[in-house]
Amino acid sequence: MGSQQIDIVMLPFMAHGHLIPFLSLATQIHHRTGFNIAIANTPLNIQYLRSTFHQHQNPPWIHLFELPFNSAGHGLPPNSENTENLPLDQIGKLVISSVSLKTPFHNFLFDIIKKQGKPPLCIISDVFFGWVVEVANIMNTVNITFATGGAYGTLALFSFWLNLPHRKTDSEEFNLPGFPERCKFHVSQLHEFMRKADGNDSWSRFLKSQFSSSLQSFGWLTNTAEELEPLGLDSLRKYTQFPVWPIGPLLPKQLLNKLPLSSSSSTTQHAGKSPGISAEKCVEWLDMHDLASVLYISFGSQNTVSRSQMMELAIGLEKSWTPFIWVIRPPLGFDLKAEFRSEWLPEGFEARMKESNQGLLVKNWAPQLEILSHKSTGAFLSHCGWNSTMESLSQGVKIIGWPMAAEQAFNSKMLVDEMGVSVELTRGVQSSISSEKVKEVIGIVMEKEGKGGDMKRKVEEISHQIREAVKDEGNEKGSSIKAKDDFISAIKTRKQEVFS
Ligand code: UDP
Repeated sequence: MGSQQIDIVMLPFMAHGHLIPFLSLATQIHHRTGFNIAIANTPLNIQYLRSTFHQHQNPPWIHLFELPFNSAGHGLPPNSENTENLPLDQIGKLVISSVSLKTPFHNFLFDIIKKQGKPPLCIISDVFFGWVVEVANIMNTVNITFATGGAYGTLALFSFWLNLPHRKTDSEEFNLPGFPERCKFHVSQLHEFMRKADGNDSWSRFLKSQFSSSLQSFGWLTNTAEELEPLGLDSLRKYTQFPVWPIGPLLPKQLLNKLPLSSSSSTTQHAGKSPGISAEKCVEWLDMHDLASVLYISFGSQNTVSRSQMMELAIGLEKSWTPFIWVIRPPLGFDLKAEFRSEWLPEGFEARMKESNQGLLVKNWAPQLEILSHKSTGAFLSHCGWNSTMESLSQGVKIIGWPMAAEQAFNSKMLVDEMGVSVELTRGVQSSISSEKVKEVIGIVMEKEGKGGDMKRKVEEISHQIREAVKDEGNEKGSSIKAKDDFISAIKTRKQEVFS
């Protein structure tokens, strides 16, 4: 920690999709204030954060602190410190086990206070870490919750767990407190473990206690923009009754300014991931195709689909005649790091796609930012993870939704109902999809006229709104920049009140 004062302490959840927005938020706050910021996490994630800096050297204003963590004691395989190293069914255990960070985190804060004679201005913690509110109170500071997802999806998740049970009738539809009556949610938008939740099972009890503690925070930062989610933000503010600062979307600057991405941008963001193809090769392939004609398919950093879904998707793609880039991984039930087997795809599929130039199959990991920002990319078949969603919308790329986990089904619903920029293909990793449906949805979305044309106009408008929200040129400040300044001045005001 050295002799420097720590102004803000951050505690992200142990997943790359959370660590990266936290790091980006830290950088932006530092640039506006000169504050020194400490990010605490488990050793593996701290190493990962360090590796994102040039020559693994973090700048002096950022302090990366390792909290000891013993995953083996929680029914997890040893060294499971990050969702990326875990099968989907084990991620819940990681969420629950994160409470064991409480004592080391408490000790870390105690050391800071002992050294500098005063607490940090605030702690910024992840939505899953409701327990931090109590630690912040003990340490005479405040907790700010940072939701790395969107307002609509995060509120839906909170409302779901805080207001169980939901379905009082046999209806498959239900309302969630906090949302207007017209927002009907459907049981198929819930994972199996959510469907089983009755409010008294261990999951319900754990999440209810964490989420209700998070609602005792001083305020919330969200990775969205005021213009993007009027319904989500309005509902979130009414529901929580505290300040909500939409300071996002936190995206790489080059992506927002339509500047060329350095060839390593995607990999810098995801150190440790080796793309199945170089960004240059991908761009070369995209250059051969027409404007907005290519469909990009990827299910985020940790999902894959079943064997039968993979087959139907491949057949549907081939029948659609649409050019595509598909990030493929071994299907469910196989080790994701295993060698890809051609038998998982229709016979001769890979060779035909190569020969006809219709499809580019990328094994395991693709340079997503380079693909989405290329003019030939027209739509994205996505699991609707928040980072992928924002990356796509910022580039004016329409979405075909296939939500799988976390709050993705709620994000997908918002993209369809509120934004009108997506058509949902299916939901969940167990769903049955047919090649005919794949072909039909691709046809609707890729169409330049009709519904596809309407979606394109809307997504272009949203892309413009995103650029405006994060604009920071002289006196021209977008809504997200103003929200960041409002947040900083609220924190500074509190400091004056406490330490004057
Ligand atoms: N990503 C990538 N290449 C891939 C798959 C994913 O660069 O082949 C990146 C993508 O750009 C995004 C992140 O991984 O920034 C995925 O985050 P998201 O929130 O969409 O989903 P998650 O992985 O958390 O489910």
